[in-house]
Amino acid sequence: MTGSSVVRAGIDGLRAVVKGEVLVAGDAAYQVVSRTLNVVGRPAVVVRCAGAEDIAAALRYAGEYRLPVAVRSGGHHPAGFGTNDGGVVIDVGLLDEVTVLPGGDGRVVRVGTGATWGRVAGELAGAGLAISSGDTAGVGVGGLLGGGGIGWMVRRLGLALDSVVAAEVVTADGVARRLDAVNEPELFWGVRGAAGSLGVVTSYDVVADRQPTVLFGNLLFPWTQLEQVLTGWAAYMADAPVELSSSVQLPPTMVADRQAPIAVMVCVSGELGDAGRLLAPLRSLGTLLTDTVTEVPYGDILTTEQMPPGWTPRMRNGLFERWVPELVEQLADARRRMPAMAVDVRALGGAYGAVAPEATAFAHREAGFMVNGVLLGSTELHGGQIDEFEELWAALAPEAAYGNFLSHPTAGDLDRCFPKAHRDRLAALKDRFDPTGVFGTALTVPPTEHVA
Ligand SMILES: Cc1cc2nc3c(=O)[nH]c(=O)nc-3n(C[C@H](O)[C@H](O)[C@H](O)COP(=O)(O)OP(=O)(O)OC[C@H]3O[C@@H](n4cnc5c(N)ncnc54)[C@H](O)[C@@H]3O)c2cc1C
Repeated sequence: MTGSSVVRAGIDGLRAVVKGEVLVAGDAAYQVVSRTLNVVGRPAVVVRCAGAEDIAAALRYAGEYRLPVAVRSGGHHPAGFGTNDGGVVIDVGLLDEVTVLPGGDGRVVRVGTGATWGRVAGELAGAGLAISSGDTAGVGVGGLLGGGGIGWMVRRLGLALDSVVAAEVVTADGVARRLDAVNEPELFWGVRGAAGSLGVVTSYDVVADRQPTVLFGNLLFPWTQLEQVLTGWAAYMADAPVELSSSVQLPPTMVADRQAPIAVMVCVSGELGDAGRLLAPLRSLGTLLTDTVTEVPYGDILTTEQMPPGWTPRMRNGLFERWVPELVEQLADARRRMPAMAVDVRALGGAYGAVAPEATAFAHREAGFMVNGVLLGSTELHGGQIDEFEELWAALAPEAAYGNFLSHPTAGDLDRCFPKAHRDRLAALKDRFDPTGVFGTALTVPPTEHVA
């Protein structure tokens, strides 16, 4: 038998034990689950797992044929981590149950890692509950919760992973483990910020918020007032009440010499009665062109992204402790030169910063602001500007970054995501739970013997 026919024979064996689906090229669903939002993969096999036993079978198969493993939930990581070429993709999409658990004040929700955040919000709305996730409905629970989760209630509730009280994970040895503050607490620490490096999480238990509605919308200001709007916004948000989460968005125009209005996005959650007072300083940042702020169900604020075929967005970000005044001119100048670049500056602090940096594998609790840039379009559309985009980030020189918003991570980015003390703890966890490096992406801390 040839190498590929041996692998093929192995697929039949895999199909015999897997309760979910085993998909290879040619199967109808393979096309959908072998790709991510912007990367087309060519895995040898995609195993759509129905539970921990299927995950263990997929891991055994990958080990037997020495194939690389990728883990896929919502397929939204901008680096395409959810697929590979020639390997095994463990897809958790079938694990999408959202269940309010008995006890726990009716607020503890078991969320399957294959659910999307749009589905989670929809399922919880009826129970008057919500979980702060991200801004997009199609993003998966697996990748967002395992890496952080900066959403519209981040300043009141912290990262999405700060509300996790337990997780179920299958480690590289195929063993299903329950993790919480008592059971395997160190691994529980690790999956809250570096889950993709340590195993396949099947579900998280999350404390939800009783938050059926929020005040949400945007305040538009003229582009010409960028300096006063951005500076005033940053000064206010550095110390704003935690009920207010906000970002400033500079939308791409895709046309040279054209600029769109500045959008100050706001979300007030928790006690809504005082919202007028909270928002007044933002409404007077400049000449207010449009004000769409209104009370809406939390689930309605999650957007559905549109990704035209062939678009390959390039994404970088930096976490900054304090607002740096030079950022205004640097971002304004870059937007003038790169009309295909979207900028999103998010205010952090509040509950996000109240968690000790060593409490979770996600480290950067000192950050007050995240600056996020996305160069949109196809290679043809933005091709000439990749160097310029990378030069901008070299000039901004952030010391810290958020791994979930990096499309082309480098070794330097791994250090920017995890400081030394965190890297040491993660390497020790790799030694215990994944010494041969079954799970790994460019943002994975390797086992100790590989640490330089
Ligand atoms: C349009 C868009 C909007 C976004 N908005 C936000 C936002 O507002 N806030 C925010 O914080 N982030 C946001 N993100 C980033 C998002 O959090 C990451 O891209 C995240 O990784 C996506 O999760 P996923 O499950 O869809 O990704 P996938 O590509 O399926 O998974 C990414 C990686 O996560 C790990 N992973 C996935 N599932 C599991 C699992 N079950 N167990 C262990 N590891 C797993 C694996 O390493 C996997 O390769 C956005 C991304 C996009 C594309």
